[in-house]
Amino acid sequence: MVIGGGVVGSACAWALSRAGAAVTVMQRDDTPGEAWRAAAGMLAAQIEPTPNDPLLPLGLAGRAFYRETVPALQEATGINIDLRQQGILQVAHTEADAVAFKAKVARQRQQSHHAEWLEPDEVALGWPWLPKTHGGFWSPEDGVLNPIELVAALRADAVRHGARIIHDTAMGLDREADQLRGVIGERDRYAAPVVILAGGAWAGRLNQLPRPVSVEPVRGQMASFPCPDALAANVVYGKKCYLLRRGDELLVGSTMEHVGFDAAVTAEGISGLIARAALLHPPLAQLTPTRTWAGLRPGTPDGLPIIGPEPRLPGLWYAVGHGRNGILLAGVTAELVARGIGGQDVGEELAAVGPTRFWDW
Ligand SMILES: Cc1cc2nc3c(=O)[nH]c(=O)nc-3n(C[C@H](O)[C@H](O)[C@H](O)COP(=O)(O)OP(=O)(O)OC[C@H]3O[C@@H](n4cnc5c(N)ncnc54)[C@H](O)[C@@H]3O)c2cc1C
Repeated sequence: MVIGGGVVGSACAWALSRAGAAVTVMQRDDTPGEAWRAAAGMLAAQIEPTPNDPLLPLGLAGRAFYRETVPALQEATGINIDLRQQGILQVAHTEADAVAFKAKVARQRQQSHHAEWLEPDEVALGWPWLPKTHGGFWSPEDGVLNPIELVAALRADAVRHGARIIHDTAMGLDREADQLRGVIGERDRYAAPVVILAGGAWAGRLNQLPRPVSVEPVRGQMASFPCPDALAANVVYGKKCYLLRRGDELLVGSTMEHVGFDAAVTAEGISGLIARAALLHPPLAQLTPTRTWAGLRPGTPDGLPIIGPEPRLPGLWYAVGHGRNGILLAGVTAELVARGIGGQDVGEELAAVGPTRFWDW
């Protein structure tokens, strides 16, 4: 049983049902703040990690997962996930940014990854609508997909492989001491020998968990505008914001706010976002957004997800805490979880993201 049918839960259900498991996904009624509905859908594997970050290899595997999987998933479901791996540009606004990004290019190249430093005139040539820059970090293999369509396709293909989706809210685990029996829902009690906790920012709120789950909501607000024709399809990162084109919309994201489970949009949040976006495209400062929305990212203290089995309660697996990168990481998370539940040794691959790293008492 998978608790939560967001992007991570749907991906887990997809991978397990394809491997032949009898899977049930428990998804509650639509709730404000679900991260997958709010997400931009960037696959920013080489943009987001800090130096020596385990997020880099995980993100690269996450990105490769979509390149390999999306064509067949689209064909099987008829759902267009709009995967575009056409690169992401991270703009250097200052000389200090330029120094840091050049170091990032060097580090990633050292590890044989494809990354480029673009001089200011090269940025001006490729992105003539940008104001003057100090150059840019160019990650040609990063990209973007449509997260809502991704979830729809994962769910549909999981169901095609025999998965069941039930509409209920998980209240807690059904367990007796260290024996897992299943899940207690608001409407019913469900027997299951294996339970995957994939409830996003809400994952730690269940009863009878064997240890605290170090996941906290981090609100992200977004806005969209009609997309000017001149703007390129690639994603462009600026200072604490990014622009991305989807259809005829220009999406602008996103804030990072620790405000509990409040998924409201605020005037202050959106105006700050627009001010930062206007550093990339000044006309935005004069425009009113066509849409605004917000979601709650499942954040962890170290920015890495929590993936793996619970040693104190055999049968319980965690697939939570994907923070800013849950779209990028959902597929690779699901593969690791499915392989682990299938009996393969994934211990080494999960070493940096194990569930006991924050709470060992
Ligand atoms: C504004 C914004 C922009 C983002 N942009 C990107 C991006 O560009 N790229 C990227 O990789 N990531 C991005 N993210 C992050 C990404 O959306 C999350 O990391 C990802 O959605 C987490 O997936 P999840 O399935 O764990 O949680 P969610 O997507 O929140 O899904 C959890 C699901 O579990 C359900 N649930 C919770 N509790 C229960 C319960 N008790 N019973 C039943 N169901 C339950 C919820 O209703 C929900 O459907 C963004 C997030 C936000 C908010």
